[in-house]
Amino acid sequence: MPADSSVTAVADAFQKLTTSDQIPKVTKYGLWASWAALVLLAACLIVVSFLVIDSERRAEEIRLQQSTDLVVQSLESRILGTAELLQKTSMRLMQVQNGRFPMASAELSATTLMEERSEVTSIALVTKENEVIRSWTSSVSPTIERRQVGALLTEKELTAAVARVFITDTSEITPLYTLKDTQLVYADLIVPTPSSQQVLVARVDLSRLLTSAVRFSSNDRYRFVFLENGDYVLEGDREQSTDAESAVRYEAPLTLLGRRSDVKTTILGTSFDHALSATNKVPVFLVAGLSVMLALTLAWLFYYQRQQHRSHRLLAAEYSLRRAMSESAVVGLRVTDREGRIIYVNETFQKILGCEASDLLGQRPPYTYWLEDIHERLDEILKAGNPTPEPVTFLARRKSGEVFHAEVRLSPLEDENGRSLGYIGALYDVTAQALAREEVLAANDRFTRVVQSLNSSLAVLSDSDELYFANRGYERLFGRSSEGAVRLLESLRTLPEAEHREGLYDEATERWFDVRVRPLVWTKGENARLMIATDITARRELEIAREQQLRRAEATQRLVTMGEMASSLAHELNQPLAAISNYAGGAYTMLENGTLSSERCRTAFERIENQAVRAGKIIQRIRGFAKKTDAKLEPVLVSKVIQETMELANIQARKLNARLEIDLEENLPTLRGDEVMLEQLLLNLLKNAMEAVFESDNHTIRVRVARLEAHQNMVRFEVIDHGPGISDEEKARLFDAFYSTKSEGMGMGLNICRSIAELHGGRLGITDTPGGGATFSFTVPVWTGEA
Ligand code: ADP
Repeated sequence: MPADSSVTAVADAFQKLTTSDQIPKVTKYGLWASWAALVLLAACLIVVSFLVIDSERRAEEIRLQQSTDLVVQSLESRILGTAELLQKTSMRLMQVQNGRFPMASAELSATTLMEERSEVTSIALVTKENEVIRSWTSSVSPTIERRQVGALLTEKELTAAVARVFITDTSEITPLYTLKDTQLVYADLIVPTPSSQQVLVARVDLSRLLTSAVRFSSNDRYRFVFLENGDYVLEGDREQSTDAESAVRYEAPLTLLGRRSDVKTTILGTSFDHALSATNKVPVFLVAGLSVMLALTLAWLFYYQRQQHRSHRLLAAEYSLRRAMSESAVVGLRVTDREGRIIYVNETFQKILGCEASDLLGQRPPYTYWLEDIHERLDEILKAGNPTPEPVTFLARRKSGEVFHAEVRLSPLEDENGRSLGYIGALYDVTAQALAREEVLAANDRFTRVVQSLNSSLAVLSDSDELYFANRGYERLFGRSSEGAVRLLESLRTLPEAEHREGLYDEATERWFDVRVRPLVWTKGENARLMIATDITARRELEIAREQQLRRAEATQRLVTMGEMASSLAHELNQPLAAISNYAGGAYTMLENGTLSSERCRTAFERIENQAVRAGKIIQRIRGFAKKTDAKLEPVLVSKVIQETMELANIQARKLNARLEIDLEENLPTLRGDEVMLEQLLLNLLKNAMEAVFESDNHTIRVRVARLEAHQNMVRFEVIDHGPGISDEEKARLFDAFYSTKSEGMGMGLNICRSIAELHGGRLGITDTPGGGATFSFTVPVWTGEA
């Protein structure tokens, strides 16, 4: 199997997920190594350049040394030569006797010598007493300070040297010196002559000698100067030397005439240019070029090393993240090879199953924790080749034996070339979800049962009137179509509220319904309407029957009231009728007497007419009151109710000797009610009150009408009497049918009064009048513009 080694590598990698991470350390060391290499290279370069410069310096030193030695040698040999030449010539230059010279050509000899030896600037013949007895000056390089004949030599060094020459009879040379205003170095050469009384003192221009010696060595890169006891002989040399401290120098001892003196004379050779500029530049450039290239390469290497370190760090961060994810508490991960052999499990996986990795590694399917074999299901899903495979839910068993609901998602594990290495399985403990799902299903089941068992018809309609759902109650009445629901909703929408307040009548089913509707979002987010239609036919029919009963009772009661008031009414009618009779009788008598003027006649007719109108009105009122009408809730004026009730009540009051007082609040609103019914209600209460106060001391009855304080949309009517009042016992029985304390009473009045008040949406109440008596009150709603 070709992928076998890769699989092992993967297994290894997964196993190492638990060991500490080494990658960033390795690259960090690499980075340090690069730094070290960079620093070492720089150090090497410095050392190499130092060595190159140093060796070049050494070579230059050697060259300078050779040149200096050459210069010294040529100087020394030249001086030696000059001394010898002087010595040879001395014979011709000395004074023999009495100021005479052995040869007349002394002058010539001296000139010839100085021409030959241009460094000799002057020659003087000096006696033992240091007196200059003769002197010659060079025409080639004339001396500035000429030694005058007859002058005495004063220079200490020179006189000492002259003295020594007289003793030793060998040539001497003085220490170097300079002359004022010259930048030249001189020395005096003292040469013995054949005469023991005279020596020759020749001033030698050593600067000139040095220049010609340097020219001879043909090396103009070097500068040579004289030093004496380590100090510059010429001031100018000192000044020049300070600016070339680092220059290559070499100091060679100058032993003139082979003799050492106290004063140590040396020649200092200095290389003008820096040593490097004088060397062969090709190797230097080669080394420099190579070094630069090496540095660049190293810097490049260093850059990539850093990049690598950075990417390794990122990789490590991602790797730890992945590791954290793999070890996270939620998902159990297992890796299998292509045969399904477990090669890695993470900690969560072990935690879920409650076992060790060693229990699982190496297992092949069916695994021990499977309670059911899901091999085929997994195979099928993998064969489908879906990039996000479906999860497989199954029952699993922990090591402890506990059974739980598990879910596994498999995804293929491939190497970088896309070759299959195996599979990664993510295992979840979905017990909670499974239980929750079961719970939801059970709840759903319960809910469906409840909904189905409802007597009400329940239907869910889409916006386009499609029936999404209907319960059994609905289907029983309207079938499986949305028609019934649509019909009910339509009547609910189109009928004015007053007409369906008590319920909707559905003609097709001949039933009454209480219909409620509310918007709903259906399962996939569609807008829908839920309609609940409760069949209220039975209740409604009962209500209608009761209403009809009430109507009949109330009509009867009105007639009864009229009956009760019959004698008063008759008396009331009797008065206008008696007056009419009186006026008619009077008129007739006058007519008989002939005293009926047309004026009186008109007055009599007018009075008769007035009384007839009065009687007519009373009859009209009685008729109006007794007439049976259907209850209608309309706008009613309080003033009208009061006025018309009072017309009848006053008739009775006169009979019963009661005093009626009216107390109306200002600006009372229009009421919503049935005028005749309200009058009947008020008249009943007034009649009861008048009967109650008949035997009392206080015959006053107050009718007070005002808005309710707490409920501004209600008006309260109060009938306040000061009669005997009603005991609590009586109050409890007051509304019992046929309860009456009166001999001729029917005991239905208050019952009907309460029904009328409730029909109007108000209440009938009884309280005790402060100071004795009873107060009956009822409330009526204010007209709000709606029937
Ligand atoms: P009826 O007037 O025919 O007796 P009602 O139902 O009108 O029947 O009255 C029932 C009883 O309530 C009366 O018999 C009376 O005893 C009592 N009652 C009614 N109004 C008053 C009142 N204002 N004061 C005292 N008792 C009253």
